[in-house]
Amino acid sequence: MLSSLVLCQPHAFFFCRVSVIQRASGKWRGAAERLLFPERNFSSCSYSETRRFFNVRAQNNEEENALSVAASVDTGAPTIFDKIIKKEIPSTVVYEDDKVLAFRDISPQAPVHIVLIPKIRDGLTQLSKADERHKDILGHLMYTTGVIAKQEGIEEGYRVVINNGPTACQSVYHLHLHILGGRQLKWPPG
Ligand code: AMP
Repeated sequence: MLSSLVLCQPHAFFFCRVSVIQRASGKWRGAAERLLFPERNFSSCSYSETRRFFNVRAQNNEEENALSVAASVDTGAPTIFDKIIKKEIPSTVVYEDDKVLAFRDISPQAPVHIVLIPKIRDGLTQLSKADERHKDILGHLMYTTGVIAKQEGIEEGYRVVINNGPTACQSVYHLHLHILGGRQLKWPPG
């Protein structure tokens, strides 16, 4: 117990330092970075290089997390979304018609984050599996994003995302569109 505490200390210290920097704002942030990471010699780095150091770290963590959930491959097996469609597990449904279902993402990446799916998967485990016969449902999904955006009051600006395959960190193999909004979104995305 004591040995693991001792071993964890450098990591805990590192995360404390990063956390302090993340909480600091404006000029204090630069000062905190120089004070807490003197070994990085930020004074010889440009502001953007310093920023990149922290952004890359954050991005690496994000990618690691995303890749760990995206480790699953497209086996065509039923997914959690089947259970949501059958109402076997709870979800917060925001829109439903005979073809599609939209519900709030369980791990929202923006104040408004909705997942829109076709009720019948019909081979559409991912977008790249789309066939001629899917044109209608794909059109309906795209059209419905606008209906939902209006309903959510984000029609002024929102983003529609489809993660396709492991490289794009898709984690659920039932085609779905993410509708994100309610805050200023950044570009390029990660
Ligand atoms: P992707 O990573 O593009 O495959 O997106 C799958 C999304 O489904 C992720 O954003 C998850 O947070 C979301 N998700 C997974 N399970 C649930 C659930 N039970 N209810 C709502 N959203 C979910």
